[in-house]
Amino acid sequence: QRPIACATADTVQAAVASGDTRDLPGAYIDYAGYVAQGGYRVLRECASGQRDVESVLKAMEDSGLRGLGGAGFPAGRKWRAVRAEPAPRLMAVNVDEGEPGTFKDRHYLERDPHRHLEGLLIAAWAVEAQAVYIYLRDEYHGCRAILQTELDRLRNDPPVPGLPRIELRRGAGAYICGEESAMIESIEGKRGMPRLRPPYVAQVGLFGRPTLEHNFETLHWVRDILERGGAWFASQGRRGRKGLRSFSVSGRVRQPGVHLAPAGITIQELIDEYCGGMQDGHDFYAYLPGGASGGILPASMNDIPLDFDTLQPYGCFIGSAAVMILSHRDTAVGAARNMMGFFKDESCGQCTPCRVGTAKALELIRQPDWDIPLLEELSAVMRDASICGLGQAAPNPVDCVIKYFPQELGPGSSGCATDH
Ligand code: SF4
Repeated sequence: QRPIACATADTVQAAVASGDTRDLPGAYIDYAGYVAQGGYRVLRECASGQRDVESVLKAMEDSGLRGLGGAGFPAGRKWRAVRAEPAPRLMAVNVDEGEPGTFKDRHYLERDPHRHLEGLLIAAWAVEAQAVYIYLRDEYHGCRAILQTELDRLRNDPPVPGLPRIELRRGAGAYICGEESAMIESIEGKRGMPRLRPPYVAQVGLFGRPTLEHNFETLHWVRDILERGGAWFASQGRRGRKGLRSFSVSGRVRQPGVHLAPAGITIQELIDEYCGGMQDGHDFYAYLPGGASGGILPASMNDIPLDFDTLQPYGCFIGSAAVMILSHRDTAVGAARNMMGFFKDESCGQCTPCRVGTAKALELIRQPDWDIPLLEELSAVMRDASICGLGQAAPNPVDCVIKYFPQELGPGSSGCATDH
């Protein structure tokens, strides 16, 4: 963890003057610093009636902002749907960030927490949420310290009257609690297991009330969208895609980390323009476009626009934009074994296709020769019959190896030498 330090108002003013307030070295922007750079002005405009709910909803819809936790549901449409449900309404914010390879929420939270909190309060104002529950990954000790401190400052000196109650809840390290309905069960004090839907969380969520559920980063963009206009955010994409994506890049590139890039960028452009190219001695071999569950693609398929929906024809998805780059020193088989082991460990065990399917699949792909017909049958059952996204997406890496990396399968292939 980085040492916790606050940026003073002076530091922030200097950063504002230089045009870059997003990455103040060694410090985060505290309440005073955030207010000094015009923070909470949009919230005040909302609360004072200078902005009305309809114009805010319209800007959110025009922006094309979608749920950045991975599901990609249009944010403006979600706000409108929750607002139409009967009061009292609640809000839940997902900062569990358990997808392997994803670290963007932590990146922003450690630098500019109030940009998120202002977005949260604007969303709560728009849907008239009575209370907000922030569900934070428990391993993020530094983020917890920042949030506790800054929430206290916000409560002691509220930027507008009548703030909703904000509760900070700690997760307990279960990957499945990043799934929205499992997170809600966990906040309610129950074992974190996904619910069957419908009813959807927007209708019957926390404590049985209509609930606006959002990923941390989705709310991070609300202030910018309302200040610069929905059209500004929508115009940031490439190849007709809308908006920006915070790619958490790891693997064999020279500059891994969080890279803010246009939606619709290709993996080759991301590596070349944002990551400084491949590390010396490593040739681009394959990539995982969406964390553990988003599948694996070969380097030859380096021209697909990265965004929601664009990867589905290839059996993959972008999810929370956790991109992992493999080189010729890695194998897709090794990655698939690693991911399936993870899913087996993290399955909540509620439904048989996932609980038994992940264990069976791991056993099968640990063999030197893969029983491909059996694996394909198992994948179909898991995809069709699992309750939630974990079991439905767990076969993706295995299916991709069969489809795109046949050279790694079979006796004597190098891929099968790597074990989980
Ligand atoms: Fe639990 Fe897996 Fe079923 Fe999801 S698919 S409910 S994680 S057993």
